[in-house]
Amino acid sequence: MSVNKILIKGGHVIDPSKGRNAKADLLVEGNEIAAIGDHLSVEGAEVIDAAGCTVTPGFVDLHVHLREPGFEYKEDIASGTRAAARGGFTSVVCMPNTSPVIDDETGVRFVLDRAARDGVVRVYPAGAVTKGQKGQEIAEMGLMARAGARMFSDDGLPVISARVMSTALTYSTMFGVPISTHEEDPSLAGDGAVNFGRISTLMGLPGMPEEAETIFTASVMPARRSLSTLKARPPWIFPRSKTMGQWFHLKTTKVALLVTDGPKFSSALVVNHLV
Ligand SMILES: [Zn+2]
Repeated sequence: MSVNKILIKGGHVIDPSKGRNAKADLLVEGNEIAAIGDHLSVEGAEVIDAAGCTVTPGFVDLHVHLREPGFEYKEDIASGTRAAARGGFTSVVCMPNTSPVIDDETGVRFVLDRAARDGVVRVYPAGAVTKGQKGQEIAEMGLMARAGARMFSDDGLPVISARVMSTALTYSTMFGVPISTHEEDPSLAGDGAVNFGRISTLMGLPGMPEEAETIFTASVMPARRSLSTLKARPPWIFPRSKTMGQWFHLKTTKVALLVTDGPKFSSALVVNHLV
């Protein structure tokens, strides 16, 4: 049986596993990279001219909205995964703010089944932290993890209750599935459109004070006490962190957790840190 061969010529190849970051040709045979080198020439291969392009491993997007079920008029798994592939993303984690909310194993299975049928990239469902994303009651985290959920998140809604968050983090540790938070105290953020400060004042835009994130982060930190008794260290993702105060809490807590065997943190750095 002849193996399908694709020769990608003249692209700028970035291969972190080998420290490669230079112009090269790349040969794909079947599902494997068979060769990377200069001036490759292979009989019978389909040739793709990649001059001016970057050739990399597939990107992973930890926060996408595929909107299915319930909001197919905005997006669905077929269209969303095609858009991902077009942009170079081969794996996506889709948020649970669908209708109904993905907060039980049936919802997780639905997304996985639909992705197997319609998707063109790997789809990893995120299950909600709380039932209906209402922040009151823990969702079926264990059943969702068993069904294939690879992250827990209430997406754009904060889990305000430190008690609920503490319990959720304990479960997340037990199941080895990370939680991604929306760190924001809505009573402080209000209807803000941008960070509160000189620019928001000059432009007349409603601002969100830094404390909206700092106070939320500080309030959920007591959860670390219950985690310190557990050996496992699941990552805890703060995708929105953008204030120095919040970074201070993350930094000091991380230092404390390193000696108490607590969870790992992952956090985004955004331009707001630099101004
Ligand atoms: Zn989102």
